[in-house]
Amino acid sequence: MKTFLRLTGLTRPFAWWMLLAALIGFATIGSGIGLLMASAWLITTAALMPALSALQIGITGVRFFGISRGVIRYAERLISHNTTFRILTQLRVWFYDAVEPLAPARLAAYKSADLLKRIVDDIQSLENIYARVLAPPVTAALVTLLMWFVVGHWSTIAAEGVLASQLVAGIAVPLFTARLAAGTARGITALQGEQQLLAVDMVQGMSELRVFGMVGDYAERLNRTESQKLALQKKASLIEGLHESLTGLAMNGAVIWILYSMLPMVRTGATSAITLASLVFGVMASFEAFLPLTGSVQNIEADVRAGERLFEIIDAKPEVVPPAKPEPFPKSTGIEVKNLAFTYPGSNRPALDGVSFSVPQGGRVAIVGPSGAGKSTITSLMVRFWNPAQGEIAIGGRNIDRLDPEELRRNIAVVSQRTYLFGQSIRENLLLAAPETTDEQLRRALSMAGLDALQSRLDDWAGQHGMNLSGGERQRLAIARMILQNAPVIVLDEATANLDAVTEQALLDTLDRASVGRTVLSITHRLHRMERYDEIVVLYEGKVIERGNHEVLLKLDGFYAGMWRLQHGEEV
Ligand code: ATP
Repeated sequence: MKTFLRLTGLTRPFAWWMLLAALIGFATIGSGIGLLMASAWLITTAALMPALSALQIGITGVRFFGISRGVIRYAERLISHNTTFRILTQLRVWFYDAVEPLAPARLAAYKSADLLKRIVDDIQSLENIYARVLAPPVTAALVTLLMWFVVGHWSTIAAEGVLASQLVAGIAVPLFTARLAAGTARGITALQGEQQLLAVDMVQGMSELRVFGMVGDYAERLNRTESQKLALQKKASLIEGLHESLTGLAMNGAVIWILYSMLPMVRTGATSAITLASLVFGVMASFEAFLPLTGSVQNIEADVRAGERLFEIIDAKPEVVPPAKPEPFPKSTGIEVKNLAFTYPGSNRPALDGVSFSVPQGGRVAIVGPSGAGKSTITSLMVRFWNPAQGEIAIGGRNIDRLDPEELRRNIAVVSQRTYLFGQSIRENLLLAAPETTDEQLRRALSMAGLDALQSRLDDWAGQHGMNLSGGERQRLAIARMILQNAPVIVLDEATANLDAVTEQALLDTLDRASVGRTVLSITHRLHRMERYDEIVVLYEGKVIERGNHEVLLKLDGFYAGMWRLQHGEEV
């Protein structure tokens, strides 16, 4: 109930549009009722062969309601679609605004296909809130009221019987069929989600599945969910059919009742047979308003489920909250890391445990250590994807939590080992780092990054996740982005990890040239040209175990010296 109320609250800005659409929906059914009543009147009157002039009023009525029904239905479609799309737009913007600050820390637990499903399908299904859940009961209530007055004008007993049938069709039948269908809509949504996850995995991991001979297995799982979904959809269709039959039964009950209660009045001449025929047809037409009601009750379940899935994400507290009054990014960019500790949620081992080091303004420091030592975690904390559990990182003497996170990220160029390339052109992928750049500047950056071959391919599609480029080219494209970003602080996180030795050497030269005068923190487990660094910090299981320059560390003959000898072909 709470979720439902929250969902309806989201549509509040469109309350007037929704009311207007419901009123026009009522007018559409009202003209349908008018059309059938006028037609019944015309046919029965004509059967008595009166003068043509006596039929004029009926002919005009049929014409009027015939035309107005079409026009009003058109207006109703227009307004209800307009309202639905406005609501959808608002929901999408609302969800995206709420989700953005959660990335990446709070979204790490969700699979990308699951998030996609929430953003696309769950929000889409919320359009039902207006179109199928809120509007039909309003229309049905107004039609019930109308028929109460129309039939009641001739006979209160007849009107009471009609009202009873309408309450059965409007309340009892939808509740009964919705009870039968309990769990169906939710089940279909869940299976659709599962199918999407499988389909995305299948498409993205097709090469792996083929190598391991698992394509058939995945196809089988996909088929299984499809048949489960079809079974549920069949059940939903049967229930819908049952609902239509029961509504028809209630309508026939109303017709029988009205005939039963009013025929004696016709016999006594208290009312005419023509009026009775018109009322019977009017009552039949009014039941059109009750057909969407089962959908209404059933959709509540699906909508609440979709709402729960959306609220589950947006109710998460962002890991990083920007300061109320952010301080400007400092002019000097020396980095001071003090006693830093951090543990990933759900992990029982700290990724960082009391790490301290500093990088002087314009200096270069390397963080080295084996895989899993916590090196990349330092990058994530520096750009404030996460907050440290203890300790602080300061740039230019200012704790980074006092800076605007967006400005901080603009001033730190990160080249990481996992570069994400968008499925767009090479130009667009580069412009991400500096949107105002000319093609000439883009080409220069590509050339500096050793990508002369791509200079003439700016408009080429980079492929899904950059698949049209080699691993090395992707990495160099990230370096070109870094050059374009022109930030005073550079963090290289295994920036040359995917390159062959010759390209790596050339690129290290480029990086050295591009980073002159900037503060550089280089994270690596490959020990190349280490003498360039002012200081090398050796991390092991989240702790600093050695520090000093290359020469000092070799002399120390500890862990670093061992790594060095191992990588350079000597026995440890
Ligand atoms: P590599 O050189 O292999 O990239 P690294 O030294 O950069 O390793 P980190 O990526 O910082 O290591 O990881 C440090 C520890 O934290 C590892 O034990 C890793 O399993 C864990 N870890 C990293 N990212 C996450 C995450 N998002 N959630 C949970 N644990 C994580």
